Amino acid sequence: MGIASNLKNITSSLPENVTLVAVSKTKPISDIMEAYDAGQRIFGENKVQEIVEKYEQMPKDIEWHMIGHLQRNKVKYMASFVSLIHGVDNFKLLKEIDKQAKKYDRIIECLLQIKIAKEDSKFGMTTEEASNIISSEEFLELKNIKVTGLMGMATFTDDTTQIEQEFNTLKTSFDNLKSIEYFNFKPNVISMGMSGDYELAIECGSTMIRVGSSIFGARNYIN
Ligand SMILES: *Cc1c(COP(=O)(O)O)cnc(C)c1O
Repeated sequence: MGIASNLKNITSSLPENVTLVAVSKTKPISDIMEAYDAGQRIFGENKVQEIVEKYEQMPKDIEWHMIGHLQRNKVKYMASFVSLIHGVDNFKLLKEIDKQAKKYDRIIECLLQIKIAKEDSKFGMTTEEASNIISSEEFLELKNIKVTGLMGMATFTDDTTQIEQEFNTLKTSFDNLKSIEYFNFKPNVISMGMSGDYELAIECGSTMIRVGSSIFGARNYIN
């Protein structure tokens, strides 16, 4: 099946409150353009160099999401255009995003990444660390970022019971934090679910799914 029909199959099955991020990492401009022509406007990438190159080549009404692990020294390359940064897992990174956003007189929306997987390889913080950041005085000095929710990645496993538990952990984190509201903290996004598990993620409360291979086909290399 082609990209446009894959997209249509997915979007037509999504509840209204769920946003689809089409994960285009490793895929060529021609593939992304096919998704764009089919109406998709939100794309996710996990490498800074790739998101910058694709931003430059693609139409400017696209929302670009950075979904990968982000190094502080690379924030500056995408600060002028990135719409949402999913994987913020420490305060120093948030501070750097704020600093770079300020240079462009913009507010960059961010999600705090919570570690829900049992694997060591997945990044993220605990709910308590997230809560400590949000309630710190330094956080309130960040006027050019807005934290709009949480992101998590489940363990790579076939055990759906475990995945469900991990998704529920993220939903609980979100519920614990959502009563807090500051000018720069307005939680309404739960970013969880990928090609293999987005339906389960939605049942567990996801409002934003990040889907790559089910739209664009398998990637050529593990990324
Ligand atoms: C690659 C990636 C995805 C999409 O994975 P698929 O299984 O191809 O849907 C989602 N989230 C993150 C953080 C990724 O790096």
